[in-house]
Amino acid sequence: MPVIKASSLRDLKLRVNIHDVVARTVALKSAGGHRFKGLCPFHTEKTPSFHVSGDKGFFKCFGCGKAGDILNFVMETEGLQFTEAAEALAKRFGVNLEYEEGSGGPSREERSLRQELFDLHDAATDHYRQCFLAATPPGTWIRDYWVKNRRFTPELAEEFMIGFAPPEDQGLAAAVLRKKFSEDAIRQCGLFFLRDGLPLTPATMRLRFRGRLMIPIRDHQGRVVAFTARQLELTPDDDPAREAKYVNSPETPIFTKSNLLFNLDRARSQAGDGHPFVLVEGQLDALRCWSVGLRTAIAPQGTSITEGQLALLRRYHSQVECFFDSDSAGQKAALRFLPLALKAGLEARFLMLAGAEKLDPDLLFLERGLAAYEEVRKASLGAMEFAVHSLLPPDAASGTEQKVRTAQALYAIIGQAESDVARTGFIQDIARHLRMAPSALEHDFRSYLGRQSGSRFAPAPTAEAAPPTPRGDHTRGLEAHLLFLCLHYEPLLLALSHQMPHEWIDATTLAGRLLNRFLAEAQHALWPGRDQLDQLLESQEEKTLVATLLFDAPGDEDVAKMANEGVRAMQRRFLEPQLRQIELEIASKGAIGDPSLSSLLKQRTDLTRQLVNPPKLTLAS
Ligand code: ZN
Repeated sequence: MPVIKASSLRDLKLRVNIHDVVARTVALKSAGGHRFKGLCPFHTEKTPSFHVSGDKGFFKCFGCGKAGDILNFVMETEGLQFTEAAEALAKRFGVNLEYEEGSGGPSREERSLRQELFDLHDAATDHYRQCFLAATPPGTWIRDYWVKNRRFTPELAEEFMIGFAPPEDQGLAAAVLRKKFSEDAIRQCGLFFLRDGLPLTPATMRLRFRGRLMIPIRDHQGRVVAFTARQLELTPDDDPAREAKYVNSPETPIFTKSNLLFNLDRARSQAGDGHPFVLVEGQLDALRCWSVGLRTAIAPQGTSITEGQLALLRRYHSQVECFFDSDSAGQKAALRFLPLALKAGLEARFLMLAGAEKLDPDLLFLERGLAAYEEVRKASLGAMEFAVHSLLPPDAASGTEQKVRTAQALYAIIGQAESDVARTGFIQDIARHLRMAPSALEHDFRSYLGRQSGSRFAPAPTAEAAPPTPRGDHTRGLEAHLLFLCLHYEPLLLALSHQMPHEWIDATTLAGRLLNRFLAEAQHALWPGRDQLDQLLESQEEKTLVATLLFDAPGDEDVAKMANEGVRAMQRRFLEPQLRQIELEIASKGAIGDPSLSSLLKQRTDLTRQLVNPPKLTLAS
């Protein structure tokens, strides 16, 4: 195993600011001083409880309890092992790492499966790209198709690494084998059909994608994790998915389509006030938007939009414009999107193309460029206006019965919004668009909610999972209290190590085990210092606890006083049961002069004296 030098890790942590690491994944807002907060990447939430302390180098979520440093953050969000996370950060921020001698550098065997899959997708992207650029008849054909048929530029193909899977090709398999990916990675990457038991050779590795235009799918961090392959005239007849216009990579350890939005990695840095995300139906629509300068376009992966995708979106910006085809399939999809958007706390608007034009966004932008976007925006509909528009048949616009039925359908949609303020606003919008009295609708909606929850006036239940409660709260208890004080005031550690019997510590608790370990180090003058604690921490659980304790700064209280109270309580916890036991034994003895009795009496005096005079810590200042 390659072991990174402790000095290198220290250097890495000093030079890389946690804000810069986290900001790649979480949109952070200042919370005063060196503190920032944002929506937690580890659980679903709508109000930020994920905090980052820039000066201490820690993050902590007060919703789900996750906490840690830059390395933990990268390990968790990118699915990397410790060494891989350190290497990824070092590469990203240009820090050189040194390895312990004899431990060897990172080797291919030690890459995680996920890292291998990322690398394998990079290799495949390169391969498909080379085929797109090849000076061969199929290469010429695909470039022609891109420019003449799809009407995109070669530059756009370059920018998005658009590729081509030729109908016949042994090159991809050969390239993957040459790069010595593990069998596991090759079997799980989704680019090949493989039969169990057969050795991996270019002949046995049947290609999933043949004769198709290849669009690399990047996750929100910009890593290629999958491909969408578009059918072409060249798609061979024996392709099992011949008739499918688009074929996607299957789900793999690095690709979950319900959690991925095409182009989010680029769009997220462009979205902001006045620049909402624009949700379009397909990847090529998003590419078209990009090509005309509309850089906040994103597309779901596959047909349906999921809660996971919208939760991801919400982390970066809350405004989204839905711009789907004007055909009925597109409009139905937009209507399905609406309740999910409300549930995710997104502010949704709907861009509509005039029905007669029968245009899709792709064609619109192709013909009229970015100017068309501003026009369409001016005529965009708010969430409720769109819903009324979609649900109320135009020829029945004035029928009361129809309106009531439409309102009923809308209650289910606005019931998804969690904020009461938002719901009230929606009711008013609906009233306006249906030309009904808001008070009547409000009353009706309350009854609807009552029926939904089984009790009147109660808010509708939401399906959102509560954040996972950390298993056993390790931050409570005497040991955690002392550990907390020691971490914030290191001289206390030395004092405790010499002045408090270690047997008082309850080592069955996580905090107790850590406190024991730290005291032992301090006692032997081996305490590495708070900033180099990693070497003493053995598990993720321990790291989380330390990070959590480090995150909360003690107030202005007197540390010595708080520590003495803790020590006193620990002493009582340890000695009082012994004292009670001895008193029981004394009570059960009959005769005065029993030698065992005098020993018991002496022990009782001893214990009582100790309890009356608890140790008072002397802190070196
Ligand atoms: Zn959380």
